[in-house]
Amino acid sequence: MRSDRKISWIIMAVLMFPAWQSVNVLPAARGDSQSPQAETKGRPNILFIFSDDHASQAISAYDHPLKLVQTPNLDRIAREGMLFNRCLVPNSICGPCRAVIQTGKYSHLNGFYRNGNRFNGDQQTFPKLMRSAGYQTAVIGKWHLETDPQGFDYWHILPGQGVYYNPPMIRNGERVKHTGYTTDLITDFSLEWLRGRDKSKPFMLMAQHKAPHREWSPNLKHLGWNKGRTFPEPPTLFDDYSGRGRAEREQDMTLEKTFTPLDAKLEVPGSLNAEQRKIWNAFYQPLNEDFQKANLSGKDLTRWRYQRYLHDYLGCILSVDESVGRLLQFLDDEGLAENTIVVYSSDQGFYLGEHGWFDKRWIYEESVTTPLMVRWPGVISPGTKNSSLVSVLDFPETFLDAAGEPVPADMQGRSLVPILKGQTPEDWRKSFYYQYYEYPGPHSVRKHYGVVTDRYKLFHFYEPDVDYWTLIDREKDPLELENVYDEEAYASARMELAAELTRLRTELKVPDQDPADSLAPSPGNAPGKRKNARN
Ligand code: CA
Repeated sequence: MRSDRKISWIIMAVLMFPAWQSVNVLPAARGDSQSPQAETKGRPNILFIFSDDHASQAISAYDHPLKLVQTPNLDRIAREGMLFNRCLVPNSICGPCRAVIQTGKYSHLNGFYRNGNRFNGDQQTFPKLMRSAGYQTAVIGKWHLETDPQGFDYWHILPGQGVYYNPPMIRNGERVKHTGYTTDLITDFSLEWLRGRDKSKPFMLMAQHKAPHREWSPNLKHLGWNKGRTFPEPPTLFDDYSGRGRAEREQDMTLEKTFTPLDAKLEVPGSLNAEQRKIWNAFYQPLNEDFQKANLSGKDLTRWRYQRYLHDYLGCILSVDESVGRLLQFLDDEGLAENTIVVYSSDQGFYLGEHGWFDKRWIYEESVTTPLMVRWPGVISPGTKNSSLVSVLDFPETFLDAAGEPVPADMQGRSLVPILKGQTPEDWRKSFYYQYYEYPGPHSVRKHYGVVTDRYKLFHFYEPDVDYWTLIDREKDPLELENVYDEEAYASARMELAAELTRLRTELKVPDQDPADSLAPSPGNAPGKRKNARN
């Protein structure tokens, strides 16, 4: 894992001593961490487009069997670049994932375990390193790390979760209020910043959407976008959790029990103005009246909620897709496409009715994976798909490496640049460590840690009252319905995975006991407060 870092440090040492530059090792070593085009065109720009809770089931490039939505602009990134099937998150929830991307470190080292923690922005982050290296840096949109951004020339962020309509925002410390749909505004502000940037420097822009986070409120122009089409249901919509344990049975994130009137659009979002509210009501009110008359219950009620959920969630995706289209068009128009790395990802995946759920948090596949598509003309072979175990943990290392900068030895991921070049290293990771801490908390998902491999997941719910192990064989059980931990046929797999889990915990410096910061119920998360207020 450390060999590419060593090379990066060697490069830096060589660059610091010009006399060494005649040594033949330089071009070869540089070639390992910089693209051929970067040599001639200067360092690549980085456009990082990031969304919140975007399930890969809702990107048509992922070719999900239910074919829920078409996303032509997102698909363009995959068609002209690389799509990753297994990009994993270390801790499947909003704030913690963002802290991982800032630092290249797991929660137990960056100090941000659960929503409600406050990010220590004084620590080393990749935007600071990029900025010191001469990049112009900006973050626009959702931030969700509670403390002010550091390492950015420009920041224009939503406070906390933000709202879907007419958002208050904070621009370089100043509170401002905007009118419009938040996804569109974040795109407008990103384009505005790109147009006004210092063109003598390469840029690193993080354009970060609130969408499609709960409560999934679409742009008013997209209401009814599906023209009444009934969305197909996932096979596990009525999962009874019988093959698994108490944690899965006792969670609070089902369409059946957890879905609120606000989630169902039976209540009007507070952020709409009077004019917008009229349009909103003209669409939802007649449908809601029909719903009230139908007096649904049981599975019929869950089915109705699923249809409403998908209309709204996927409606939000339409705007994200339009945003990507506008940003790609700008790069084309400005002649920037060739020397800009475009990354699209999300802070985790999401359940679209699988296991009867919405939300995230689990080591199960829909939430431990997140979409990742990267376009880098001249470096990535267009239309490539990759199934290596990669992670958001690798993003900062990748950006620094692509910029020709050394990767700090204390970052815990690994540069994806060789993979992007089609040269996956022999010693690329074969296993990945996961840990979730936010209990008690919204949706009541129990704390767990575990290891993910190409085929298996072994994980441990580790609290005194809910303490058991689960082993999932994804090859035989792709829907992840059966815990085979106690089956004799899996004895050797169980032992090997347990040993690997121990090895990972040691390598990643995971403490035996959860640190105090991970335990403290944060404001809004305490039991008895409004459910699911922060996620
Ligand atoms: Ca999220």
